[in-house]
Amino acid sequence: MDKNPDLVAPCGMNCGICSGYLASTHDIKKQGIRMSYCRGCRPRNKQCAFLKKQCRLLTEGKVNFCFECPDYPCDRLKTIDKRYRERYHMSMLENLSFIKEHGIDAFTKKEEEKWQCPDCGRTICCHNGICFDCGVDRLKIKKELYRWGENPNKAV
Ligand code: SF4
Ligand code: SF4
Ligand SMILES: [Zn+2]
Repeated sequence: MDKNPDLVAPCGMNCGICSGYLASTHDIKKQGIRMSYCRGCRPRNKQCAFLKKQCRLLTEGKVNFCFECPDYPCDRLKTIDKRYRERYHMSMLENLSFIKEHGIDAFTKKEEEKWQCPDCGRTICCHNGICFDCGVDRLKIKKELYRWGENPNKAV
């Protein structure tokens, strides 16, 4: 996983495990897979394609992380968090609380271990459970690119 701390978004999302980021860094369209590309929330300084942020504090860069906000955790963040807990094996709120307590370097280290591909050592995507380095064949046959399979070892 790319351990660049800039890849951790203000909402607690780790862009380094996002399908948009992994699709972009692996130039997956060249392999015939239609996925949108994103370079990460902070690097591109725009609203996230998945999280659809409409928060002025974030878009205007008033907070570095949501836990600095007086309304934390706001309803929007709680809604996203619920969806990510249910579908994507992660939680923005858990991430933020870990970052607040232990710092960004400890967080990226923990994330690297959590999302490491057991087969090649690179990165598993949180949106579908697939490694974009050794699992491209599975991506090609996957029907729902933004969902995990019932069985994490079976992509379709
Ligand atoms: S789509 Fe959102 S979560 Fe994914 S890399 Fe872009 S900003 Fe980060
Ligand atoms: S209102 Fe606060 S907690 Fe909610 S998204 Fe904006 S900065 Fe984050
Ligand atoms: Zn792999």
